[in-house]
Amino acid sequence: MRIDLATIALFGALQALLLAPLLLAATRAYAGVARTSLRIWGTVLLLQAIGWVLMGLRGQVSDWLSIVLANGVLMVSYAETTRALRLLLGVPQRRALLVAIGVAGWLGIAWFGVATPDYRMRVYIATLALCAYLLLLLWPLRHALRRGGSTAQRVMLLVLLGALLGWCARLGDLALHPSGTGLLAYSPANVVQMIYSAVEPVLASVGFLLMYNETVQIELHRLARTDPLTGTLNRLALDEESLRLFREADRPNTLAALVIDVDHFKRINDNFGHVAGDRVLAALAAGIRWRLPPPAVLGRMGGEEFLALLPGTGVAEAMALAEQLRVAVAAMQLVPEAGMPGVTISAGIAAYRPEDASVDDLVRRADRALYDAKRGGRNRVVAAIGDASPVQPGATE
Ligand code: GH3
Ligand code: MG
Ligand code: MG
Repeated sequence: MRIDLATIALFGALQALLLAPLLLAATRAYAGVARTSLRIWGTVLLLQAIGWVLMGLRGQVSDWLSIVLANGVLMVSYAETTRALRLLLGVPQRRALLVAIGVAGWLGIAWFGVATPDYRMRVYIATLALCAYLLLLLWPLRHALRRGGSTAQRVMLLVLLGALLGWCARLGDLALHPSGTGLLAYSPANVVQMIYSAVEPVLASVGFLLMYNETVQIELHRLARTDPLTGTLNRLALDEESLRLFREADRPNTLAALVIDVDHFKRINDNFGHVAGDRVLAALAAGIRWRLPPPAVLGRMGGEEFLALLPGTGVAEAMALAEQLRVAVAAMQLVPEAGMPGVTISAGIAAYRPEDASVDDLVRRADRALYDAKRGGRNRVVAAIGDASPVQPGATE
């Protein structure tokens, strides 16, 4: 059976053409990075369809169209494919580099297409540009897979390696036929590459959609666990994390709880408005979050009350950390433009005890200590009775 390569090129184009509107229509249902990457992918498919149709018309239309324009369009599509996947992988897009590779590749192909026609040079340049794009994808993919990765990322890796193999086959073909055979001329390497190029839009789109789906799932999971105002864990996530950390705690000094409450927060709302109050909470949470050591978990229990869980920490260490936080918050200019004076916090601390039946016991003790801190005059840190020397000398209000 003799396969007509031009027909295959047109078949690949048709598949891309049919897939593109479906994906572009689906973008309406999504937002954020996922939508952007899906839009780019839909556009890429359109560009590939145009590129392959133009290539398939080689000999029937001028070389300016079938070489220069076709390769220009395909080069844009490769750059955009790289951009869409890098977006999904959560790495910088490197747009300047993508453009530079595409422009250099396209100029080279155009030069050896019409100025001094040389098929070998065109294949070398196209392979070089494509390999540069592939490297920009394989590198972050490799990093992601090293950290465990996902099935979607493995599928995409296989698709990309398939593309790389196709180009290697062409380079090998070129070594065997130094004068070059032209992409549409019948040769085993060209058959391999054209068949792969024809099915690639579908294969790559499946890989892309799997990765895309995964990104949306991760984002939804993150949103479902995050308090929208402060960016800290919400109640649901805080309960989950508390359970996990409590299960891991098995002896003294393996878990401490810190309940933090803003002093006289009602006054801030009353004097400066609810919006300013919201901004104080967001700034305060950010200020506390980055001062906590990495394994710590910070969540919003409700209102202006936060819970920090510190694994591997005893009461003395927790006390010192809470005191640092208290001093730091008192010195913060949270919403300076509103002319608002600084705010202070009070904190209650409790440390894990073997007799604690659940994390609630621990948090309840920390909450009672917070109550003592409020009664003691606010802007202070108090450890639960029995956990440490009861009251720390906090600053006066
Ligand atoms: P204390 O020092 O005793 O803690 O005094 P307080 O004024 O902070 O007392 P309380 O904890 O009773 O008041 C908390 C206030 O926080 C009441 C509520 O209006 C306000 N609040 C709760 N959630 C939010 C929020 O999301 N945004 C804003 N701006 N205010 C909130
Ligand atoms: Mg309060
Ligand atoms: Mg409160």
